[in-house]
Amino acid sequence: MTPDVRMIRLLMELRRQGVTDTDVLSALETTPREMFVPEVFQDRAYDNVALPIDAGQTISQPYIVAYMTAALELKPSHRVLEVGTGSGYQAAILAKLVKRVYTIERHAVLAEQAQQRFRQLKLFNIDVRVSDGVRGWPGQAPFDRIIVTAAAREKAPEELLNQLNIKGLIVIPIDRGVDGQVLVRIRRTAQGFQSTDLLPVKFVPLLEGVAKSDGADG
Ligand code: SAH
Repeated sequence: MTPDVRMIRLLMELRRQGVTDTDVLSALETTPREMFVPEVFQDRAYDNVALPIDAGQTISQPYIVAYMTAALELKPSHRVLEVGTGSGYQAAILAKLVKRVYTIERHAVLAEQAQQRFRQLKLFNIDVRVSDGVRGWPGQAPFDRIIVTAAAREKAPEELLNQLNIKGLIVIPIDRGVDGQVLVRIRRTAQGFQSTDLLPVKFVPLLEGVAKSDGADG
């Protein structure tokens, strides 16, 4: 099967799963996932599954990427922070929908590969940085939206919440221990923060600090 046919099948599957936002679907359609997937998994680039990438990490399942993107309620004027660049796939999708994307990765090797992909795809509205995303990106805050693609333990990091605009949203997987991980959306209002559980998920852990080597330490 050609990539085109596999892409169409994937988009049909996402629609069946309840992704109806046409802007989100066309962002997926125009982003070649095979560019973000390691050579050995090329034949599975358009399967609706998460796949391994370098440094022991994963590229998220297309359904989860589409779902989280829709849950962010994006507008073209938005400035968005992503924590957990990984392959860069989610950032590339965001870059098609908003003004600017700031993405943070703790593994230098992943950040470099993602940066190269953004250049090849001529996505010039993405800034990549190697640092601890738990601290956010104070120099560019506040953000209209924040998306975290690694699971935080028990609650969203305070520093990220504080880097949200009033009326801003953060979408983040939270690890609730024996209850498993749940995707949560938190809305900031003038009065405070309102949290809603969205769906059960499975992400790699959000770890503190920058990775020392490119070893797979999580
Ligand atoms: N959004 C990615 C999926 C990434 S998997 C994609 O589309 O491919 C989660 C990523 O979060 C991993 O690459 C992991 O190294 C990174 N990560 C975990 N904790 C982090 C932290 N504190 N700061 C920055 N990145 C972190």
